[in-house]
Amino acid sequence: MQQFDYIRAVDLGDALQALGGGAKLLAGGTTLYDLMKLRIERPEQIVDINHLSELSYFDTSGDRELVFGALARMSDVAADPRLVRDYPAISESLWRAASQQLRNMASLGGNLLQRTRCPYFRGGEPYACNKRHPDSGCAAIEGLDRGQALLGASGACSAVYPGDLAAALVAFDAEVDVVGSQGARSIPVEELHREPGDTPHIETTLAPDEIIVRIRVPATPLGRGSTYLKVRDRESYAFALASAAVALVMDGEVVRDARIALGGLATRPWRVRAAERLLIGRRFDEDAARAAGEAALEGATPGRFNGFRIELGVRTVVDALTIARQRA
Ligand SMILES: Cc1cc2nc3c(=O)[nH]c(=O)nc-3n(C[C@H](O)[C@H](O)[C@H](O)COP(=O)(O)OP(=O)(O)OC[C@H]3O[C@@H](n4cnc5c(N)ncnc54)[C@H](O)[C@@H]3O)c2cc1C
Repeated sequence: MQQFDYIRAVDLGDALQALGGGAKLLAGGTTLYDLMKLRIERPEQIVDINHLSELSYFDTSGDRELVFGALARMSDVAADPRLVRDYPAISESLWRAASQQLRNMASLGGNLLQRTRCPYFRGGEPYACNKRHPDSGCAAIEGLDRGQALLGASGACSAVYPGDLAAALVAFDAEVDVVGSQGARSIPVEELHREPGDTPHIETTLAPDEIIVRIRVPATPLGRGSTYLKVRDRESYAFALASAAVALVMDGEVVRDARIALGGLATRPWRVRAAERLLIGRRFDEDAARAAGEAALEGATPGRFNGFRIELGVRTVVDALTIARQRA
């Protein structure tokens, strides 16, 4: 690991000043230190925001919205009783991620901004990677693409966005509040991550000097009938091969409202409104769930070794809808 300066921020102003000078933010460090050891991130300065108590709280008791400071820890939020009862998709997206030790350290803001697990990105210099070095090529194109994205990929990059929480947040229309040198603004989580296009190295719509302060989730009856289902190579401590955050409100046997977002299959969290529209106003049964699953994977483009994840994605949506139906 290269040498770097460590700055401990005592307030948000401190952190913003350091960011403006080119420092990298340190929250739980479970992504940042990992990438520094791999020499993918090489910051000359890091600014530790762990002592900013205004970012550490969360409050799920509100009637209008749930509020999560960016430094709230994954394990604390996952275990929150109101979330477990009224928004199981959010709780499940957190406790099905990483390991207990990691969740104890990792923050919600850091989770949203984690980087891809694409082996050619993380493998470093032997491999061409447009995300690491713009216009250097993409080793995944001729490589082993079993884990690469089926949705949202471009000729320049097919790296999957790996986070679980973002899919659940996108399903519930969550927003992040950010501050930077130009002031404060809110960004829908759905607009936070970018598809790679020709510029896969630009991963989010955040400016380099912006900090996520909090995440807000509108309170909704959709929460109760929700789930986050994650399919992976092993049942614990693994990233998703396919996942679905799904929520339903039922009127008897008829779907009154529906939300579907995919994880693990696309280059960013992937909300599928066409699939939601297929369900709304329709009687819920196996055929309806299958039709929604197929609509959710509409446009998925297989490579050489990842085509099996299209049917896996369809079935993940169907199974998630079945669980959500039982809860709704
Ligand atoms: C072995 C392993 C397995 C994992 N498995 C999963 C999994 O299954 N599912 C999953 O979702 N995740 C998984 N993760 C990822 C893990 O959840 C993330 O590393 C963690 O959530 C990042 O949070 P952090 O607080 O440690 O972020 P940090 O490492 O501190 O920061 C991550 C990035 O976000 C930036 N950042 C942090 N906070 C802010 C902020 N408030 N505003 C702006 N920028 C900020 C940092 O500068 C850095 O670039 C795994 C990680 C490991 C190491």
